[in-house]
Amino acid sequence: MKKFNPEQAMVERQRVFGEHGGVTPSIERSSTFTVLAADTMPAIFKGEKGPDAGGCFLYSRHFNPTVNALAYRMAALEDTESGICTASGISAIACTISQLCHDGGHVVSSNTVYGGTHALLGELLPSMGIETTFVDPTDVDAFKAAMRDDTRVVFCEVLGNPTLKVADIPAIAEIAHEKGARLVVDNTFTPVIISPARLGADVVVYSLTKFVNGASDIIGGAICAPVELIAQLMDLHTGRVMLLGPTMDPRVAFDVYQRLPHLPIRMREHSERALALALRMEKLGVDVCYPGLESHPQHELFSSMLNEGWGYGGMLTVDCRTVELAGQFMDALQNDEDFGYIAVSLGYFDTLLSCSGSSTSSEISAEEQAEMGLSPGLVRMAVGFSGGLEERVEQIERAARKVGLAR
Ligand code: PLP
Repeated sequence: MKKFNPEQAMVERQRVFGEHGGVTPSIERSSTFTVLAADTMPAIFKGEKGPDAGGCFLYSRHFNPTVNALAYRMAALEDTESGICTASGISAIACTISQLCHDGGHVVSSNTVYGGTHALLGELLPSMGIETTFVDPTDVDAFKAAMRDDTRVVFCEVLGNPTLKVADIPAIAEIAHEKGARLVVDNTFTPVIISPARLGADVVVYSLTKFVNGASDIIGGAICAPVELIAQLMDLHTGRVMLLGPTMDPRVAFDVYQRLPHLPIRMREHSERALALALRMEKLGVDVCYPGLESHPQHELFSSMLNEGWGYGGMLTVDCRTVELAGQFMDALQNDEDFGYIAVSLGYFDTLLSCSGSSTSSEISAEEQAEMGLSPGLVRMAVGFSGGLEERVEQIERAARKVGLAR
C-alpha cells in the first residue's frame, strides 16, 4: 500500500479562502440561507441541489459552509470520501451506529472503549432494538465468533480507552466485511498517527474535544465516511444527524479548523514526551504501559499500522494497583510537582491525569472492568508538552519515588 502522509493530505485536498480572499475561512453564522431563485428551494429539499451540487445551502442544522470546511479537512486527514461534524464525540458515535443499524440489528464491539460509548452500546441502544456483544479487542477470533447474520457494525478504538490495548484493524475489517458489516473505528487517541480508513475501516469517528482541538476549550465530534453514509445521516426523513440534531456551531468549527494545521506538530511532540516519560518510568521499575515501548504486548502490531514520523501518541498508563496509591501519585504530581492536572479528558497541551476505573470508565461494572484488564489503580496520563522535557522527566521520577512506585 502506498505510504500515506496525513499532514500533506490535509493541505492537498482542500483549500478554503475567506469571503474577501482571507487566508482563513470566514465564519458563516447564518442559520438560514437565501435561495437566489424560488425554484431552487424544492430542488434542495429533494436533494438534487446542495453544498456540493450548485453550492446551495439551506439551513445550518443541515449543512453550513464553515462546519463543512472543517468536516472536509477531517475527511482529508482520514482519507475518506467525505465527512460531517457534530456537537460532540459521543453524538458522532451514537448517530453513526444508530444510522448503520437503522432497522435494529447487532453490533460487535471491543470491550475496551470509553465508558460513555460502553454505556451507549450496552445500556442505551438495546432499548432501541440494537444489541451489542463485547469482545476483547486483542482477540481477533473473538470478533469472528461474535459475528451474526444481523451484525451491521463492528466497533473498536485504535487504542482502547484506557487500557491501551491495540486493535488489529486490517484483520478486524476483513472479519466485518466477510459478513457484510461496516467497521467503525474511534481514532480519538491517535489522529495523524494511525489512519484507520487506510487500514480497512469504513467509518472513522472522533471526539474533536481531545487532541484534534488541543486546547480543552470546546466539545465537538466528527464522522469521516463515504458520501453515501453522510447523505443518509443528513436525510430529511431518517437522518440521525439531521433529526436528532447534534449540530456543530460554526464558531466552534472555525476554532478547530484553525488548530488543525498544527495537529501533526503537536502529535509529534506529545509522542516524544510520552515516550521519554514511559522510558524513564520503565527504567525505575514502574508498571507503565505505552505502545511505543517494546514491552507493550502489541508494540509490533501498532508499529505495523502507524504512519511513520509522528511517534506512538500521547497516552500512557501507570498501574498503581489501588485507588489509594493512584490518588497519592496524582496528588504528588499535581500538588507537589506542578506536573499537569488531575482532570478527565485528553489531548491538552498540559498533562491530564485521571484514575479511569472510578472516573471515565465508571459506567463499566467492576466485573467487566476486571474482565477487560482495567485495574482500579490505573492512572491514565494524557501527556502534554508544556515545560522542559528534562524537568518533566525528573518530576515524574520524584513523584514515583515519593509514593513508592519505583522499585
Ligand atoms: N471517544 C473517546 C475515545 C473518548 O475518550 C471520549 C471522551 O472522553 C469520547 C469518544 C466522547 O467524546 P465527547 O466527550 O467529545 O463527546
